[in-house]
Amino acid sequence: MHAFTDAQLLEIWESGLVQHPIDRALTLLLGSDAQQTRAALAEWPVGRRDGQLLEAYRMNFGPRLEGLAACPGCGRRLEFALETASLAGELPALPSGNEFDFNLGDLSMRCRLPNSRDLAAAAMADDETGASLALLHSCVLALSRAGQPDTVEHLTDTEIAALEEQLAQRDPQADLTLALTCAECGQTWQESLDVVEFLWTQVAARARRLLLEVHSLASAYGWSESDILAMSPVRRQAYLEMLA
Ligand SMILES: [Zn+2]
Repeated sequence: MHAFTDAQLLEIWESGLVQHPIDRALTLLLGSDAQQTRAALAEWPVGRRDGQLLEAYRMNFGPRLEGLAACPGCGRRLEFALETASLAGELPALPSGNEFDFNLGDLSMRCRLPNSRDLAAAAMADDETGASLALLHSCVLALSRAGQPDTVEHLTDTEIAALEEQLAQRDPQADLTLALTCAECGQTWQESLDVVEFLWTQVAARARRLLLEVHSLASAYGWSESDILAMSPVRRQAYLEMLA
């Protein structure tokens, strides 16, 4: 993995702008690890994906994540900051190791962890029930009840909840949540952390800053975009200060 170059960051931003967040996550990953292919990354379990995106965040924007959350009690906006290192746990195994058996009462299932393709399929569903069913279809590879083949449509809510719990345990970073407490009213709640959104916000902000720099220098000196982006940030900054 490596930090984005300025030219690369603009390319990522340009492609990501028109993409769904699921594809955007893959674009961000691909930009930070040229060894991978998009197809291979799409097979990564979501927790592994998010662990790697946290690492990309740290390499490009430093160790602190800062965000805003609204208190569900009083509506007050709360700022929070956390260290990316405290979130990054051990990365789950690669795709070949993603399958596991899950037994519950008379129910036996062969399952695998959800990946980006599964999320994309679920995102096509009309509503939340459809999305949840699509995800079950992707992640439950085989199912039998009392030795007879069965389908995910027959799973009870309790069984689905138990399976979700199992998936979360096996891929802990897939659902990063923060425990927050409101200083105003004392309300405590869980806020889920969208790593893709965090990283994308920073990429977009830096892209806008870079474009402004290119605009200023190109207007003043007539240099090309690629020449300006190839300069070290220090040298670019020195020219910008002379213009100011
Ligand atoms: Zn509050």
